[in-house]
Amino acid sequence: MYLTSGDKLECCGCKACVEICPQKCISLKEDNEHFIYPVVNKTECTHCNLCEKTCPISSHIFKSSNKSEVWVGRYKSQNVIFDSSSGGAYTAIYKTLLKENYIFYGVRWSENFQVIHDIAKTEQGCENFRKSKYVLSDTNKVFSKIEGHLVNSEKVCFSGTPCQCAALLAYLNSKHIRCDNLIVVDIICHGAPNQYLFDKYISEKIGSKSNITGYIYNFKNKTPYSGKVNSRSAEMISPQGESYILDSQNDPFIKAYYGRLFYRPACGDCRFARPERVSDITIGDAWHIERDYPEWNSLAGVSLILLNSPKGKSLFDDIKKQMEVKKMNIAWAVETNAQLSKPTQMHPKREKFFSLLENNPFEVAVSKSMDGSVFRRVARRIKRFVK
Ligand SMILES: Cc1cc2nc3c(=O)[nH]c(=O)nc-3n(C[C@H](O)[C@H](O)[C@H](O)COP(=O)(O)OP(=O)(O)OC[C@H]3O[C@@H](n4cnc5c(N)ncnc54)[C@H](O)[C@@H]3O)c2cc1C
Repeated sequence: MYLTSGDKLECCGCKACVEICPQKCISLKEDNEHFIYPVVNKTECTHCNLCEKTCPISSHIFKSSNKSEVWVGRYKSQNVIFDSSSGGAYTAIYKTLLKENYIFYGVRWSENFQVIHDIAKTEQGCENFRKSKYVLSDTNKVFSKIEGHLVNSEKVCFSGTPCQCAALLAYLNSKHIRCDNLIVVDIICHGAPNQYLFDKYISEKIGSKSNITGYIYNFKNKTPYSGKVNSRSAEMISPQGESYILDSQNDPFIKAYYGRLFYRPACGDCRFARPERVSDITIGDAWHIERDYPEWNSLAGVSLILLNSPKGKSLFDDIKKQMEVKKMNIAWAVETNAQLSKPTQMHPKREKFFSLLENNPFEVAVSKSMDGSVFRRVARRIKRFVK
């Protein structure tokens, strides 16, 4: 655990330690890369060790050991697929659970482009959780709110990164809360940068962060351009309705994101990038489904769904009524989706990027760390032109 070792690979920034501390003596401090880490006020600490017990890095509990049921699926409505990151599995999950009066916690954009965990009780609220936001979300003190719901016998569905799901479960375990009424959905994750990086990038892109109102930013663009859908492109829509397609050729954030340039250090040593899962249901992209099953060729996205617990499996009867589905096996899932077997390897120039960022615009820091020398850049452009 970071609090005892000081090793940044041992902190995923979930804030569970801050929420559990009975003395309220853990605060958060940003490091020079603008990632937050907990700091203990040693004079107030009573050494109860609840922070250690609640740290997902030191206490993770896996629900399945290679026994997950594996499916791929796409939602039966094209509109839903278009409004989702992959094949719309999350929509099928919340539509199923809304009928059973679940309360939802997921990740949405706040008004000024902050990525936060929040509550939703209606279909409209859940729609805000659709689409991946490629920024580490602020867990926003939701663990204690979920504890409150469960104590009141309310039903809750939480979705987040695997480390955030593990943090919630460890938090509830430390508080001895029964989890019969809790469904945990984790996304397959290859890492996330922090909010500071997105803020710096977006303010440079649109002139100033105060101009941000009315913009829409969508990390998974599904509108075809240059004749095809590029699954690694985003779309930004201005308040006047102008659409900008952003991809790794023309946009520094997208290039850095897919280039693994600026993730949190712990993402490169992720303990959850494995077939055993902490959640009831895991959702991700069914990469390469069209290679192995051409009839599943869907440019708009297909979901990979892992049912990891009896609770997850029992929900699937209703979920699959809303989706076209196909049963797969865990070996196929692991072969086609790297984050089910190993953590992301960080970009070799990650440190250079962060040191350049101190005195340079975001775009310059990305290009100087990723594009190599002027000679190599020119050579690459000529090669692209010739092609
Ligand atoms: C940072 C990040 C990295 C990812 N990396 C991979 C990957 O390497 N391989 C892969 O197969 N899939 C990855 N995904 C998952 C994938 O992009 C889709 O989110 C997932 O397949 C669900 O798609 P959907 O169509 O079912 O649902 P959607 O309707 O798109 O639902 C999105 C779900 O993701 C949650 N969510 C959105 N943003 C965040 C966030 N910042 N942090 C935590 N939860 C969030 C929402 O709460 C909601 O439950 C990643 C997602 C994120 C956010």
